[in-house]
Amino acid sequence: MADCLFCKIVAGDIPAERVAESSRTLAFRDINPQAPTHVLVIPKEHYPDLASLASSDAGLLAEVALQTQQVADAEGIAADGYRVVFNTGAEAGQTVFHVHAHVLGGRRMAWPPG
Ligand code: 5GP
Ligand code: ZN
Repeated sequence: MADCLFCKIVAGDIPAERVAESSRTLAFRDINPQAPTHVLVIPKEHYPDLASLASSDAGLLAEVALQTQQVADAEGIAADGYRVVFNTGAEAGQTVFHVHAHVLGGRRMAWPPG
Protein backbone atom coordinates (compact mmCIF):
# COMPACT_ATOMS: atom_id res chain seq x y z
CA MET A 1 0.00 0.00 0.00
CA ALA A 2 1.71 3.15 -1.23
CA ASP A 3 0.41 5.50 1.42
CA CYS A 4 0.59 3.23 4.47
CA LEU A 5 2.98 4.20 7.27
CA PHE A 6 3.59 0.63 8.42
CA CYS A 7 4.13 -0.64 4.85
CA LYS A 8 6.83 2.04 4.63
CA ILE A 9 8.39 0.74 7.86
CA VAL A 10 8.34 -2.80 6.42
CA ALA A 11 10.05 -1.51 3.27
CA GLY A 12 12.66 0.37 5.33
CA ASP A 13 11.57 3.73 3.90
CA ILE A 14 10.76 4.98 7.43
CA PRO A 15 13.12 3.99 10.24
CA ALA A 16 11.90 2.00 13.25
CA GLU A 17 13.58 0.20 16.12
CA ARG A 18 13.05 -3.40 15.07
CA VAL A 19 13.04 -5.97 17.86
CA ALA A 20 12.00 -9.15 16.02
CA GLU A 21 11.32 -10.28 12.50
CA SER A 22 10.15 -13.38 10.68
CA SER A 23 9.65 -13.91 6.98
CA ARG A 24 6.06 -12.64 7.20
CA THR A 25 5.96 -10.53 10.38
CA LEU A 26 7.81 -7.60 11.96
CA ALA A 27 7.98 -6.26 15.52
CA PHE A 28 9.19 -2.73 16.32
CA ARG A 29 8.97 -0.30 19.23
CA ASP A 30 6.07 2.14 19.33
CA ILE A 31 7.28 5.71 18.79
CA ASN A 32 5.06 6.95 21.66
CA PRO A 33 5.30 4.20 24.30
CA GLN A 34 2.45 3.82 26.79
CA ALA A 35 4.33 1.35 29.02
CA PRO A 36 7.97 0.39 29.69
CA THR A 37 7.57 -2.22 26.95
CA HIS A 38 5.41 -1.12 24.01
CA VAL A 39 6.06 -3.05 20.82
CA LEU A 40 3.92 -3.31 17.69
CA VAL A 41 3.71 -6.62 15.83
CA ILE A 42 2.49 -6.51 12.24
CA PRO A 43 2.15 -8.78 9.22
CA LYS A 44 4.45 -7.49 6.47
CA GLU A 45 1.55 -7.81 4.05
CA HIS A 46 -1.04 -5.04 4.25
CA TYR A 47 -4.39 -5.78 5.92
CA PRO A 48 -6.30 -2.83 7.37
CA ASP A 49 -7.54 -4.48 10.54
CA LEU A 50 -7.87 -7.66 12.56
CA ALA A 51 -11.09 -8.79 10.88
CA SER A 52 -9.65 -8.55 7.38
CA LEU A 53 -6.50 -10.43 8.40
CA ALA A 54 -8.42 -13.15 10.27
CA SER A 55 -10.80 -13.78 7.37
CA SER A 56 -8.10 -13.68 4.66
CA ASP A 57 -5.12 -15.47 6.25
CA ALA A 58 -5.70 -17.09 9.64
CA GLY A 59 -2.22 -18.66 9.48
CA LEU A 60 -0.63 -15.24 9.22
CA LEU A 61 -2.71 -14.04 12.18
CA ALA A 62 -1.33 -17.00 14.14
CA GLU A 63 2.21 -15.94 13.18
CA VAL A 64 1.49 -12.43 14.50
CA ALA A 65 0.14 -13.95 17.74
CA LEU A 66 3.23 -16.15 18.09
CA GLN A 67 5.52 -13.17 17.63
CA THR A 68 3.70 -11.21 20.37
CA GLN A 69 4.64 -14.02 22.75
CA GLN A 70 8.24 -14.14 21.50
CA VAL A 71 8.52 -10.38 22.05
CA ALA A 72 7.10 -10.70 25.58
CA ASP A 73 9.64 -13.43 26.33
CA ALA A 74 12.53 -11.39 24.93
CA GLU A 75 11.43 -8.28 26.84
CA GLY A 76 11.22 -10.22 30.11
CA ILE A 77 7.53 -9.45 30.71
CA ALA A 78 6.01 -12.86 29.98
CA ALA A 79 6.14 -14.15 33.55
CA ASP A 80 4.53 -11.10 35.17
CA GLY A 81 1.95 -10.67 32.42
CA TYR A 82 1.37 -8.32 29.54
CA ARG A 83 -1.43 -7.00 27.38
CA VAL A 84 -2.01 -7.59 23.65
CA VAL A 85 -4.38 -5.10 22.01
CA PHE A 86 -5.76 -4.79 18.48
CA ASN A 87 -7.49 -1.41 18.33
CA THR A 88 -10.11 -1.88 15.62
CA GLY A 89 -11.78 1.15 14.09
CA ALA A 90 -11.72 4.84 14.92
CA GLU A 91 -13.88 4.62 18.04
CA ALA A 92 -11.39 2.18 19.58
CA GLY A 93 -8.50 4.51 18.83
CA GLN A 94 -7.13 2.88 15.68
CA THR A 95 -5.11 5.53 13.85
CA VAL A 96 -2.93 3.39 11.56
CA PHE A 97 -4.98 1.17 9.27
CA HIS A 98 -2.38 -1.57 8.84
CA VAL A 99 -3.29 -4.22 11.40
CA HIS A 100 -0.99 -4.25 14.42
CA ALA A 101 -0.90 -5.93 17.81
CA HIS A 102 0.24 -3.68 20.64
CA VAL A 103 2.34 -5.64 23.17
CA LEU A 104 2.31 -3.69 26.44
CA GLY A 105 3.99 -4.58 29.71
CA GLY A 106 6.46 -3.71 32.41
CA ARG A 107 3.86 -2.04 34.60
CA ARG A 108 0.47 -2.96 36.03
CA MET A 109 -2.27 -2.54 33.41
CA ALA A 110 -5.54 -0.90 34.40
CA TRP A 111 -8.75 -2.80 33.72
CA PRO A 112 -11.20 -1.82 32.34
CA PRO A 113 -9.24 0.30 29.86
CA GLY A 114 -10.16 3.94 29.41
P1 5GP B 1 -3.33 2.62 16.89
O1 5GP B 1 -3.70 3.94 17.51
O2 5GP B 1 -3.66 2.60 15.40
O3 5GP B 1 -3.86 1.41 17.60
O4 5GP B 1 -1.76 2.49 17.05
C1 5GP B 1 -0.86 3.13 16.20
C2 5GP B 1 0.42 3.23 16.96
O5 5GP B 1 1.46 3.55 16.06
C3 5GP B 1 0.42 4.33 18.02
O6 5GP B 1 0.64 3.75 19.31
C4 5GP B 1 1.56 5.26 17.59
O7 5GP B 1 2.31 5.76 18.68
C5 5GP B 1 2.39 4.37 16.70
N1 5GP B 1 3.09 5.08 15.66
C6 5GP B 1 2.60 6.09 14.88
N2 5GP B 1 3.53 6.49 13.99
C7 5GP B 1 4.64 5.74 14.22
C8 5GP B 1 5.94 5.71 13.63
O8 5GP B 1 6.28 6.44 12.68
N3 5GP B 1 6.83 4.80 14.13
C9 5GP B 1 6.50 3.97 15.16
N4 5GP B 1 7.44 3.13 15.60
N5 5GP B 1 5.27 3.97 15.74
C10 5GP B 1 4.36 4.85 15.28
ZN1 ZN C 1 0.27 -1.22 5.21
